[in-house]
Amino acid sequence: MFCCQLWTGRAKKILTELLLPETSPRSLTPHVFGEDYFSVLASLDIAGLPSFVKLVEVGPRDGLQNEQSMVPTDIKVEFINRLADAGLPYIEATSFVSPKWVPQMADHSEVMKRITRRPGTVFSALTPNLKGFEAAVAAGVQEVAIFGAASETFSKKNINCSISESIERFKEITDAAHKLSIPVRGYVSCVLGCPYEGDISPDKVAQVAKSLLDIGCYEISLGDTIGVGTPGAVKKLIAVVSQVIPIDQIAIHCHDTYGQALANILAALQMGVKVFDSSAAGLGGCPYAKGASGNVSTEDVVYMMNGLAIRTGVDIHKLIDAGHFISSAIGRKSGSKVAMATKSSL
Ligand SMILES: [Zn+2]
Repeated sequence: MFCCQLWTGRAKKILTELLLPETSPRSLTPHVFGEDYFSVLASLDIAGLPSFVKLVEVGPRDGLQNEQSMVPTDIKVEFINRLADAGLPYIEATSFVSPKWVPQMADHSEVMKRITRRPGTVFSALTPNLKGFEAAVAAGVQEVAIFGAASETFSKKNINCSISESIERFKEITDAAHKLSIPVRGYVSCVLGCPYEGDISPDKVAQVAKSLLDIGCYEISLGDTIGVGTPGAVKKLIAVVSQVIPIDQIAIHCHDTYGQALANILAALQMGVKVFDSSAAGLGGCPYAKGASGNVSTEDVVYMMNGLAIRTGVDIHKLIDAGHFISSAIGRKSGSKVAMATKSSL
């Protein structure tokens, strides 16, 4: 009955005439996703979803760091500039990690210094330790991110220390950042499964997330690092984590390894989450599942949000162009279904 009520009258006309032809390139134009479309759909208050969400673009860091090829600095800078020009409000540009561990990010300072700064776009970087934080500040970073895990084994293998040791190390960073009024974002990886330990308890995730909040992170991004989560698991996780962290400070970071990413994002939306990490062209593989999909693609997330009348501030055309630019630069097919479906029109 709900559906019958929903798809009636003017909305049905608009959905039939404008939304349904979305498979054609024309349907991606601002005409389709213009004010009229948004105002009609928003007035329907579909499932109580928000009218705006923030997208955190992680392609230049999380994405490129997990790609096989080494990307020249010029290409990275151009890619980041294109993403910013597409309207992405937050771009994680690089990682100030030792080149010994992540050679793909060795040019972090140069990238950070050379990108074109623009009002309305925050450029952040991952900083695994105080040395990295100081280098990031020197290069003009606006925000930093720290990276913890909900799995003890993953923490030891990935950052070579226990979870509690990692929190202590991160506190040095949050203390230093607060003195400089630099906001710190926290990641928790393996929230829906670990390549070593298998299932991860939502209570464990909540405990680590709360520790990161307590040392001063303003937002906690829950990462399904190996992409095994399903919408049911996402809902359960958020229900538990939101008991200890306000829902407005929770973000979701989905990988599409098992093809569940968009469904998981929709489940998180329904739970009240309004911040989503994604990667243009779905950059980044899954190091624990060879050949598997990487991060959910920003193009596909924006397309879905457009279809739900949820604003992102992103120009999907420019975003698709940016995704094709980096895909051809690294010589691989885009991981975005939307980008592939519209490629012939570009
Ligand atoms: Zn990721």
